Amino acid sequence: MSGLHPARPFPEAAKSEVNNPQLRANLRKVTNTIREKRLRAVGELPHWEELRVLGAATKDASLAHLSDRLLELEASVKARGGHVHWARDAAEARELVAQIAQGHGVTELIKVKSITSDEIELNRALDAHGIHAIETDLAELIVQLSHDTPSHILVPAIHRNRAEIQALFNRELGDPEHLSDDPAVLAGAARRYLRQKFLTTKMAVSGANFAIADTGTVCVVESEGNGRMCVTLPEVLVSIMGIEKVLGTWEDISVFMELLPRSSTAERMNPYTSFWSGVTPGDGPQEFHLILLDNGRTDVLADEVGRQTLRCIRCSACLNVCPVYERAGGHAYGSVYPGPIGAILTPQLLHMDDKNANTLPGASSLCGACFDACPVRINIPQVLIYLRGEANGHKGTTLESVAMGAARYAMSEGWRFEGAVKLARAGQGPLVHGGQITALPGLLGGWTQSRDLAPFPPQSFREWWREREAEGAGGEP
Ligand code: SF4
Repeated sequence: MSGLHPARPFPEAAKSEVNNPQLRANLRKVTNTIREKRLRAVGELPHWEELRVLGAATKDASLAHLSDRLLELEASVKARGGHVHWARDAAEARELVAQIAQGHGVTELIKVKSITSDEIELNRALDAHGIHAIETDLAELIVQLSHDTPSHILVPAIHRNRAEIQALFNRELGDPEHLSDDPAVLAGAARRYLRQKFLTTKMAVSGANFAIADTGTVCVVESEGNGRMCVTLPEVLVSIMGIEKVLGTWEDISVFMELLPRSSTAERMNPYTSFWSGVTPGDGPQEFHLILLDNGRTDVLADEVGRQTLRCIRCSACLNVCPVYERAGGHAYGSVYPGPIGAILTPQLLHMDDKNANTLPGASSLCGACFDACPVRINIPQVLIYLRGEANGHKGTTLESVAMGAARYAMSEGWRFEGAVKLARAGQGPLVHGGQITALPGLLGGWTQSRDLAPFPPQSFREWWREREAEGAGGEP
């Protein structure tokens, strides 16, 4: 997997994952737990629905004036002693971080958990410049030490169980004799390793959950306090922010301080919320750079249906309720954005002619649970259906489109439909075994790969109805 780009189409990538019982057990356990906790946290607020509507409206208002908000943010950050850079794509953003690090002679830096930095594959690019980036979020550290990739927005190591982490930490951080699988012991080993990095590293890189245009304030929310260490202890701080994260005022941010923690970690209040505005002499980093990243976002903004995707506050609630994510896991999506949000965001950022990314809108049962869970009311099923149409448009004429065209023709008139059913009934004989159709031929075989199909009955409902009428049966059924 590399950044945004899926290396394989989703159905192919998901095949091996759904057949991994350990992965499925790990995912089921964690998503079930988070799901129940979230429902309780959300249920405490009688005005939850009003908050969701307000969250969606606040984001939409910002997106409607995005260029003005961003220019205002730039001016505010600069007025408070910060530097602002604009990056059209991942390559520009990576180069900016590398240049800043090299300008300070930095060969090692610490990172706050940031999916945007994963999106641009920052760590790999920095490595190529001889700069080692150390993840400080515990789950991200697990992923990094195991040379793995994240599989969940909030819990990047969700696919790892405690025994796997114990083995990893014993190999990478501790003495095999001393580290048990007690979570407190494992967390202690990570803490000792990271503490030494916090105190000796000169530069940090963070993402940004939100930024406030009128004061130039950047905000990071996290649960461990390691992010707080990164944004306060080093001399130089670089924050990479997707341009859609900007809000107008402090009032705007307040609704997300309610929506985000309850939706993501099922907490009433976020444990660590850091805000900083430019630089303050003698307090915190003395050099601050804000990189504003586009990387396909303005194209998403230009699309009337897809635009709502940019409301996302990366809470991961949609992942935790998605039956497809729960079975396939995050790696099957092949992008740093997995689950329902990934299924709509990744193909839009990469554009629908990406032949692997455009399979992602198919990674859904369209049950609608993601929309119900989303704190900013992104109508994910609507965008999924829209993108499926776009993907089909890019494929041109295929066996599938011809078959669907034929089905549309047959179903558009009652007499044609009846004729098609009669034909199918007459021809199904050799396919029926033990009262079920267990394998359909050709393109239709995908349907019976994992389920049986009931054969057409000897008499259709219409035929039965006509017969009943002819026999003079009347009255109420
Ligand atoms: S789409 Fe909605 S539920 Fe999913 S991560 Fe984004 S804000 Fe959360």
